[in-house]
Amino acid sequence: SSIFGTIPEAPPDAILGLNTQYRSDPSPNKVNLGVGAYRTADGQPYVLPVVRRVEQALADDPSTTHEYLPQDGLKEFCNLSASLILGAHSPAFADRRSVTVQALSGTGALRVGFTFVARFLSPQTAVYIPKPSWSNHKNVVVQSGLPPAKEYRYFDYGTGAVDINGMVEDLTAAPAGSIVVLHGCAHNPTGADPSHEQWERVLQVVQEGGLVPFFDNAYQGFASGSLEEDAWSVRRFVDAGIDMLVGQSYAKNMGLYGERVGALTVVSSEGGNNEAILSQLKAIIRAMYSNPPKHGAMVAAAILGHAGMFAEWEEELRKMADRIRDMRQKLRGALVKNGTPGNWDHIVNQIGMFSFTGLTAAQVELMKNKYHIYMTSNGRISMAGLTEDTVEYVADAMKDAVV
Ligand code: PMP
Repeated sequence: SSIFGTIPEAPPDAILGLNTQYRSDPSPNKVNLGVGAYRTADGQPYVLPVVRRVEQALADDPSTTHEYLPQDGLKEFCNLSASLILGAHSPAFADRRSVTVQALSGTGALRVGFTFVARFLSPQTAVYIPKPSWSNHKNVVVQSGLPPAKEYRYFDYGTGAVDINGMVEDLTAAPAGSIVVLHGCAHNPTGADPSHEQWERVLQVVQEGGLVPFFDNAYQGFASGSLEEDAWSVRRFVDAGIDMLVGQSYAKNMGLYGERVGALTVVSSEGGNNEAILSQLKAIIRAMYSNPPKHGAMVAAAILGHAGMFAEWEEELRKMADRIRDMRQKLRGALVKNGTPGNWDHIVNQIGMFSFTGLTAAQVELMKNKYHIYMTSNGRISMAGLTEDTVEYVADAMKDAVV
Protein backbone atom coordinates (compact mmCIF):
# COMPACT_ATOMS: atom_id res chain seq x y z
CA SER A 1 0.00 0.00 0.00
CA SER A 2 1.15 3.53 -0.74
CA ILE A 3 2.42 5.82 2.01
CA PHE A 4 0.27 8.46 0.30
CA GLY A 5 -2.83 6.27 0.31
CA THR A 6 -4.29 7.48 3.58
CA ILE A 7 -3.96 11.20 2.91
CA PRO A 8 -7.42 12.74 3.31
CA GLU A 9 -8.88 14.97 0.64
CA ALA A 10 -8.63 18.70 1.35
CA PRO A 11 -11.89 20.62 1.59
CA PRO A 12 -12.61 22.35 -1.74
CA ASP A 13 -11.74 26.05 -1.97
CA ALA A 14 -15.04 27.89 -1.77
CA ILE A 15 -14.22 30.36 -4.54
CA LEU A 16 -12.23 28.19 -6.94
CA GLY A 17 -14.78 25.35 -6.66
CA LEU A 18 -17.53 27.71 -7.75
CA ASN A 19 -15.79 28.46 -11.05
CA THR A 20 -15.52 24.73 -11.77
CA GLN A 21 -19.26 24.28 -11.16
CA TYR A 22 -20.02 27.25 -13.40
CA ARG A 23 -17.92 25.91 -16.25
CA SER A 24 -19.65 22.54 -16.21
CA ASP A 25 -23.17 24.05 -16.15
CA PRO A 26 -24.65 23.64 -19.66
CA SER A 27 -27.40 26.28 -19.20
CA PRO A 28 -27.29 29.09 -21.80
CA ASN A 29 -28.56 31.51 -19.12
CA LYS A 30 -25.74 30.91 -16.66
CA VAL A 31 -24.11 33.94 -15.05
CA ASN A 32 -20.85 33.86 -13.10
CA LEU A 33 -20.86 36.39 -10.28
CA GLY A 34 -18.26 34.43 -8.33
CA VAL A 35 -15.20 35.25 -10.38
CA GLY A 36 -12.88 37.84 -8.85
CA ALA A 37 -11.70 39.17 -12.19
CA TYR A 38 -12.78 42.14 -14.27
CA ARG A 39 -15.03 41.45 -17.25
CA THR A 40 -15.91 43.84 -20.07
CA ALA A 41 -19.40 45.10 -20.90
CA ASP A 42 -19.60 41.99 -23.14
CA GLY A 43 -18.63 39.71 -20.28
CA GLN A 44 -15.15 39.02 -21.65
CA PRO A 45 -11.74 38.99 -19.95
CA TYR A 46 -9.86 42.24 -20.55
CA VAL A 47 -6.26 42.85 -21.50
CA LEU A 48 -5.47 46.54 -20.98
CA PRO A 49 -4.34 47.99 -24.34
CA VAL A 50 -1.28 49.57 -22.72
CA VAL A 51 -0.31 46.16 -21.30
CA ARG A 52 -0.70 44.53 -24.73
CA ARG A 53 1.50 47.18 -26.34
CA VAL A 54 4.28 46.75 -23.80
CA GLU A 55 4.13 42.97 -24.23
CA GLN A 56 4.45 43.34 -27.99
CA ALA A 57 7.40 45.71 -27.64
CA LEU A 58 9.11 43.32 -25.22
CA ALA A 59 8.60 40.40 -27.57
CA ASP A 60 10.10 42.38 -30.48
CA ASP A 61 13.05 43.72 -28.48
CA PRO A 62 16.13 41.57 -29.15
CA SER A 63 17.55 42.51 -25.74
CA THR A 64 14.62 40.79 -23.97
CA THR A 65 15.90 37.53 -22.48
CA HIS A 66 14.59 34.85 -20.16
CA GLU A 67 17.49 35.04 -17.74
CA TYR A 68 16.73 34.70 -14.01
CA LEU A 69 15.83 37.68 -11.90
CA PRO A 70 17.54 37.96 -8.49
CA GLN A 71 15.62 36.52 -5.50
CA ASP A 72 14.10 39.89 -4.68
CA GLY A 73 13.01 40.46 -8.27
CA LEU A 74 13.33 43.31 -10.72
CA LYS A 75 14.86 46.32 -8.96
CA GLU A 76 13.04 49.04 -10.98
CA PHE A 77 9.77 47.22 -10.46
CA CYS A 78 10.31 47.15 -6.68
CA ASN A 79 11.22 50.84 -6.49
CA LEU A 80 8.29 51.90 -8.65
CA SER A 81 5.87 49.69 -6.72
CA ALA A 82 6.98 51.14 -3.40
CA SER A 83 6.46 54.67 -4.78
CA LEU A 84 3.06 53.73 -6.13
CA ILE A 85 1.68 52.60 -2.80
CA LEU A 86 3.65 54.77 -0.36
CA GLY A 87 3.71 57.89 -2.56
CA ALA A 88 6.80 59.21 -4.34
CA HIS A 89 7.60 61.55 -1.43
CA SER A 90 7.00 59.09 1.39
CA PRO A 91 8.90 59.78 4.62
CA ALA A 92 9.80 56.07 4.54
CA PHE A 93 12.07 56.78 1.56
CA ALA A 94 13.56 59.96 3.02
CA ASP A 95 14.43 58.09 6.25
CA ARG A 96 15.54 54.95 4.34
CA ARG A 97 13.29 52.72 6.38
CA SER A 98 11.57 50.60 3.73
CA VAL A 99 12.57 47.43 1.91
CA THR A 100 10.64 46.09 -1.09
CA VAL A 101 10.83 42.70 -2.77
CA GLN A 102 8.89 41.42 -5.77
CA ALA A 103 6.25 38.85 -4.82
CA LEU A 104 3.98 36.31 -6.49
CA SER A 105 1.06 38.73 -6.62
CA GLY A 106 -0.84 39.67 -3.47
CA THR A 107 -1.01 36.13 -2.13
CA GLY A 108 2.75 35.72 -2.45
CA ALA A 109 3.36 39.02 -0.66
CA LEU A 110 1.26 37.76 2.25
CA ARG A 111 2.98 34.37 2.21
CA VAL A 112 6.52 35.76 2.28
CA GLY A 113 5.48 38.45 4.78
CA PHE A 114 3.92 36.01 7.24
CA THR A 115 6.88 33.63 6.93
CA PHE A 116 9.13 36.59 7.77
CA VAL A 117 6.95 37.36 10.80
CA ALA A 118 7.03 33.74 11.98
CA ARG A 119 10.82 33.55 11.59
CA PHE A 120 11.92 36.93 12.89
CA LEU A 121 9.20 38.23 15.20
CA SER A 122 7.92 35.03 16.76
CA PRO A 123 6.27 31.80 15.56
CA GLN A 124 3.68 32.53 18.26
CA THR A 125 2.76 35.95 16.84
CA ALA A 126 -1.00 36.46 16.96
CA VAL A 127 -2.56 37.55 13.66
CA TYR A 128 -5.90 39.36 13.58
CA ILE A 129 -7.96 39.38 10.39
CA PRO A 130 -11.29 41.13 9.83
CA LYS A 131 -14.53 39.19 10.23
CA PRO A 132 -15.32 38.48 7.46
CA SER A 133 -12.25 38.59 5.25
CA TRP A 134 -10.88 37.23 1.99
CA SER A 135 -11.13 33.48 2.61
CA ASN A 136 -7.47 32.80 1.82
CA HIS A 137 -6.07 34.96 4.63
CA LYS A 138 -6.53 32.27 7.24
CA ASN A 139 -4.93 29.62 5.00
CA VAL A 140 -1.84 31.72 4.35
CA VAL A 141 -1.36 32.52 8.03
CA VAL A 142 -1.36 28.85 9.04
CA GLN A 143 0.77 27.66 6.10
CA SER A 144 3.34 30.29 7.08
CA GLY A 145 3.83 28.58 10.43
CA LEU A 146 1.75 30.92 12.60
CA PRO A 147 -1.14 30.05 14.93
CA PRO A 148 -4.63 30.17 13.37
CA ALA A 149 -5.70 33.76 12.74
CA LYS A 150 -8.03 35.45 15.22
CA GLU A 151 -10.84 37.62 13.95
CA TYR A 152 -11.71 41.19 14.87
CA ARG A 153 -15.22 42.56 14.39
CA TYR A 154 -15.34 44.48 11.14
CA PHE A 155 -18.74 44.51 9.52
CA ASP A 156 -22.12 45.47 10.92
CA TYR A 157 -24.67 43.30 9.12
CA GLY A 158 -27.44 45.55 10.37
CA THR A 159 -26.18 48.80 8.88
CA GLY A 160 -24.03 47.34 6.10
CA ALA A 161 -21.16 49.55 7.25
CA VAL A 162 -17.92 49.09 9.18
CA ASP A 163 -18.51 48.19 12.84
CA ILE A 164 -15.92 50.71 13.92
CA ASN A 165 -16.67 50.46 17.64
CA GLY A 166 -16.45 46.66 17.57
CA MET A 167 -13.26 46.84 15.54
CA VAL A 168 -11.60 49.30 17.90
CA GLU A 169 -12.72 47.31 20.94
CA ASP A 170 -11.34 44.02 19.58
CA LEU A 171 -8.05 45.58 18.50
CA THR A 172 -7.69 47.27 21.89
CA ALA A 173 -7.76 43.79 23.44
CA ALA A 174 -5.05 42.42 21.09
CA PRO A 175 -1.63 41.89 22.71
CA ALA A 176 1.24 44.21 21.72
CA GLY A 177 3.23 42.88 18.77
CA SER A 178 0.19 41.25 17.16
CA ILE A 179 -0.19 41.56 13.40
CA VAL A 180 -3.40 43.23 12.22
CA VAL A 181 -4.39 42.50 8.64
CA LEU A 182 -6.03 45.58 7.12
CA HIS A 183 -7.51 45.81 3.64
CA GLY A 184 -6.07 49.08 2.30
CA CYS A 185 -9.21 49.77 0.28
CA ALA A 186 -12.21 47.95 -1.23
CA HIS A 187 -12.58 45.46 1.61
CA ASN A 188 -13.23 41.96 0.28
CA PRO A 189 -15.93 40.65 0.64
CA THR A 190 -17.99 43.44 2.22
CA GLY A 191 -17.14 46.45 0.01
CA ALA A 192 -17.25 48.56 3.20
CA ASP A 193 -14.18 50.67 4.01
CA PRO A 194 -13.51 52.84 7.06
CA SER A 195 -13.88 56.58 6.47
CA HIS A 196 -10.76 58.71 6.93
CA GLU A 197 -11.97 59.55 10.43
CA GLN A 198 -12.47 55.88 11.25
CA TRP A 199 -8.99 55.06 9.93
CA GLU A 200 -7.63 57.64 12.40
CA ARG A 201 -9.28 55.71 15.23
CA VAL A 202 -7.79 52.45 13.97
CA LEU A 203 -4.37 54.08 13.74
CA GLN A 204 -4.73 55.28 17.30
CA VAL A 205 -5.41 51.80 18.75
CA VAL A 206 -2.66 50.34 16.61
CA GLN A 207 -0.18 52.91 17.95
CA GLU A 208 -1.32 52.77 21.55
CA GLY A 209 -1.43 48.97 21.58
CA GLY A 210 1.89 48.45 19.74
CA LEU A 211 0.17 46.46 16.99
CA VAL A 212 1.82 45.80 13.63
CA PRO A 213 -0.39 46.42 10.57
CA PHE A 214 -0.09 44.21 7.52
CA PHE A 215 -1.83 46.12 4.74
CA ASP A 216 -3.21 43.96 1.96
CA ASN A 217 -3.69 46.06 -1.19
CA ALA A 218 -5.32 44.06 -3.95
CA TYR A 219 -7.34 46.92 -5.46
CA GLN A 220 -5.30 50.14 -5.57
CA GLY A 221 -6.83 52.37 -8.25
CA PHE A 222 -9.52 49.84 -8.98
CA ALA A 223 -11.75 50.84 -6.09
CA SER A 224 -12.25 54.59 -6.48
CA GLY A 225 -10.56 54.91 -9.87
CA SER A 226 -7.84 57.00 -8.15
CA LEU A 227 -4.48 55.45 -7.24
CA GLU A 228 -3.96 58.21 -4.68
CA GLU A 229 -7.27 57.94 -2.88
CA ASP A 230 -6.99 54.15 -2.67
CA ALA A 231 -3.54 54.45 -1.05
CA TRP A 232 -4.67 56.98 1.55
CA SER A 233 -4.91 54.55 4.47
CA VAL A 234 -1.47 53.00 3.91
CA ARG A 235 0.19 56.41 3.54
CA ARG A 236 -1.48 57.71 6.68
CA PHE A 237 -0.08 54.79 8.69
CA VAL A 238 3.39 55.16 7.16
CA ASP A 239 3.36 58.86 8.07
CA ALA A 240 2.78 57.84 11.68
CA GLY A 241 6.23 56.22 11.71
CA ILE A 242 5.28 52.73 12.88
CA ASP A 243 6.54 49.26 11.96
CA MET A 244 4.34 47.65 9.33
CA LEU A 245 4.15 45.40 6.27
CA VAL A 246 2.51 46.25 2.96
CA GLY A 247 1.45 43.79 0.28
CA GLN A 248 0.55 44.79 -3.29
CA SER A 249 -1.03 43.04 -6.24
CA TYR A 250 -1.22 44.04 -9.89
CA ALA A 251 -3.80 41.33 -10.63
CA LYS A 252 -6.83 43.63 -10.71
CA ASN A 253 -5.43 47.07 -11.43
CA MET A 254 -3.27 46.00 -14.40
CA GLY A 255 -5.30 42.90 -15.24
CA LEU A 256 -2.16 40.76 -14.79
CA TYR A 257 -3.97 38.07 -12.77
CA GLY A 258 -2.18 34.95 -14.03
CA GLU A 259 1.22 36.60 -14.38
CA ARG A 260 1.53 36.81 -10.58
CA VAL A 261 2.87 40.35 -10.21
CA GLY A 262 3.08 41.89 -6.75
CA ALA A 263 5.35 43.28 -4.09
CA LEU A 264 6.00 43.14 -0.36
CA THR A 265 7.33 46.17 1.49
CA VAL A 266 8.58 46.08 5.07
CA VAL A 267 8.43 49.56 6.60
CA SER A 268 10.40 50.04 9.82
CA SER A 269 9.75 52.68 12.44
CA GLU A 270 13.48 53.49 12.33
CA GLY A 271 16.02 53.06 9.54
CA GLY A 272 19.33 51.25 9.92
CA ASN A 273 18.57 47.58 9.37
CA ASN A 274 17.44 47.50 5.74
CA GLU A 275 20.27 45.30 4.50
CA ALA A 276 19.63 42.61 7.09
CA ILE A 277 15.88 42.69 6.43
CA LEU A 278 16.41 42.41 2.68
CA SER A 279 18.89 39.56 3.11
CA GLN A 280 16.39 37.57 5.18
CA LEU A 281 13.52 38.18 2.75
CA LYS A 282 15.80 36.93 -0.02
CA ALA A 283 16.70 33.85 2.01
CA ILE A 284 13.01 33.04 2.53
CA ILE A 285 12.31 33.48 -1.20
CA ARG A 286 15.37 31.41 -2.16
CA ALA A 287 14.04 28.40 -0.30
CA MET A 288 10.44 28.93 -1.45
CA TYR A 289 10.82 29.47 -5.22
CA SER A 290 14.33 30.89 -5.78
CA ASN A 291 13.20 33.94 -7.74
CA PRO A 292 10.00 35.44 -9.11
CA PRO A 293 8.70 35.37 -12.69
CA LYS A 294 9.95 38.09 -14.97
CA HIS A 295 7.43 38.84 -17.69
CA GLY A 296 4.71 40.55 -15.66
CA ALA A 297 7.19 42.56 -13.61
CA MET A 298 8.80 43.84 -16.85
CA VAL A 299 5.38 44.89 -18.13
CA ALA A 300 4.37 46.61 -14.90
CA ALA A 301 7.74 48.37 -14.54
CA ALA A 302 7.54 49.69 -18.12
CA ILE A 303 4.12 51.23 -17.46
CA LEU A 304 4.93 52.56 -13.99
CA GLY A 305 8.15 54.14 -15.22
CA HIS A 306 6.81 55.96 -18.28
CA ALA A 307 4.72 59.09 -17.77
CA GLY A 308 2.65 58.65 -20.94
CA MET A 309 1.84 55.00 -20.36
CA PHE A 310 1.18 55.66 -16.69
CA ALA A 311 -1.43 58.29 -17.64
CA GLU A 312 -3.01 55.85 -20.07
CA TRP A 313 -3.17 53.24 -17.33
CA GLU A 314 -4.86 55.70 -14.96
CA GLU A 315 -7.47 56.38 -17.63
CA GLU A 316 -8.09 52.62 -17.97
CA LEU A 317 -8.47 52.33 -14.19
CA ARG A 318 -11.07 55.07 -14.17
CA LYS A 319 -12.97 53.30 -16.92
CA MET A 320 -12.97 49.95 -15.13
CA ALA A 321 -14.03 51.56 -11.85
CA ASP A 322 -16.78 53.46 -13.71
CA ARG A 323 -18.17 50.35 -15.33
CA ILE A 324 -18.38 48.69 -11.94
CA ARG A 325 -20.11 51.72 -10.41
CA ASP A 326 -22.50 51.78 -13.37
CA MET A 327 -23.40 48.13 -12.75
CA ARG A 328 -24.04 48.94 -9.09
CA GLN A 329 -26.54 51.63 -10.15
CA LYS A 330 -28.17 49.35 -12.70
CA LEU A 331 -28.56 46.43 -10.32
CA ARG A 332 -30.00 48.60 -7.58
CA GLY A 333 -32.28 50.25 -10.16
CA ALA A 334 -33.55 46.90 -11.43
CA LEU A 335 -34.24 45.67 -7.87
CA VAL A 336 -36.21 48.81 -7.07
CA LYS A 337 -38.06 48.61 -10.38
CA ASN A 338 -39.11 44.96 -10.01
CA GLY A 339 -40.19 45.63 -6.43
CA THR A 340 -37.77 43.32 -4.62
CA PRO A 341 -38.51 43.81 -0.93
CA GLY A 342 -35.77 45.39 1.17
CA ASN A 343 -33.41 48.32 0.88
CA TRP A 344 -30.70 47.90 -1.77
CA ASP A 345 -28.82 51.17 -1.25
CA HIS A 346 -25.81 49.26 0.07
CA ILE A 347 -25.16 47.98 -3.46
CA VAL A 348 -24.31 51.51 -4.62
CA ASN A 349 -22.65 52.54 -1.36
CA GLN A 350 -20.15 49.68 -1.33
CA ILE A 351 -16.83 50.05 -3.10
CA GLY A 352 -14.58 47.81 -5.19
CA MET A 353 -15.01 44.65 -7.16
CA PHE A 354 -17.71 43.10 -5.00
CA SER A 355 -21.09 43.70 -3.54
CA PHE A 356 -22.08 41.99 -0.33
CA THR A 357 -25.76 41.60 -1.19
CA GLY A 358 -27.09 40.28 2.09
CA LEU A 359 -28.52 37.18 0.39
CA THR A 360 -28.49 34.16 2.70
CA ALA A 361 -26.79 30.85 1.89
CA ALA A 362 -30.22 29.33 1.10
CA GLN A 363 -31.07 32.19 -1.26
CA VAL A 364 -27.67 31.79 -2.95
CA GLU A 365 -28.46 28.08 -3.46
CA LEU A 366 -31.80 28.91 -5.05
CA MET A 367 -30.17 31.41 -7.40
CA LYS A 368 -27.76 28.71 -8.51
CA ASN A 369 -30.14 25.76 -8.80
CA LYS A 370 -33.08 27.55 -10.38
CA TYR A 371 -31.38 30.36 -12.35
CA HIS A 372 -27.79 29.16 -12.91
CA ILE A 373 -26.46 32.31 -11.26
CA TYR A 374 -23.26 31.61 -9.31
CA MET A 375 -21.94 33.53 -6.31
CA THR A 376 -20.13 32.69 -3.07
CA SER A 377 -22.34 31.32 -0.31
CA ASN A 378 -21.91 34.51 1.76
CA GLY A 379 -23.93 36.40 -0.87
CA ARG A 380 -20.98 38.22 -2.38
CA ILE A 381 -21.28 39.06 -6.07
CA SER A 382 -18.60 40.25 -8.45
CA MET A 383 -20.00 43.42 -10.01
CA ALA A 384 -17.87 43.04 -13.14
CA GLY A 385 -19.60 39.72 -13.74
CA LEU A 386 -22.79 41.66 -14.59
CA THR A 387 -23.59 43.12 -18.02
CA GLU A 388 -26.43 45.23 -19.43
CA ASP A 389 -27.85 41.96 -20.79
CA THR A 390 -27.84 40.04 -17.52
CA VAL A 391 -28.58 42.65 -14.85
CA GLU A 392 -32.37 42.37 -15.08
CA TYR A 393 -32.29 38.58 -15.16
CA VAL A 394 -30.17 38.62 -12.01
CA ALA A 395 -32.45 41.18 -10.31
CA ASP A 396 -35.53 39.09 -11.12
CA ALA A 397 -33.85 35.98 -9.76
CA MET A 398 -32.93 37.91 -6.60
CA LYS A 399 -36.56 38.93 -6.21
CA ASP A 400 -37.66 35.30 -6.48
CA ALA A 401 -35.00 34.29 -3.96
CA VAL A 402 -35.94 37.00 -1.47
CA VAL A 403 -39.74 36.74 -1.50
N1 PMP B 1 -6.08 40.01 -0.91
C1 PMP B 1 -7.34 40.26 -1.20
C2 PMP B 1 -8.18 40.98 -0.20
C3 PMP B 1 -7.89 39.84 -2.42
O1 PMP B 1 -9.17 40.10 -2.69
C4 PMP B 1 -7.06 39.16 -3.32
C5 PMP B 1 -7.59 38.72 -4.65
N2 PMP B 1 -8.78 38.05 -4.65
C6 PMP B 1 -5.74 38.93 -2.97
C7 PMP B 1 -5.28 39.37 -1.76
C8 PMP B 1 -4.71 38.23 -3.78
O2 PMP B 1 -4.82 38.06 -5.11
P1 PMP B 1 -3.59 37.79 -6.03
O3 PMP B 1 -2.70 36.81 -5.31
O4 PMP B 1 -4.15 37.24 -7.27
O5 PMP B 1 -2.91 39.11 -6.22
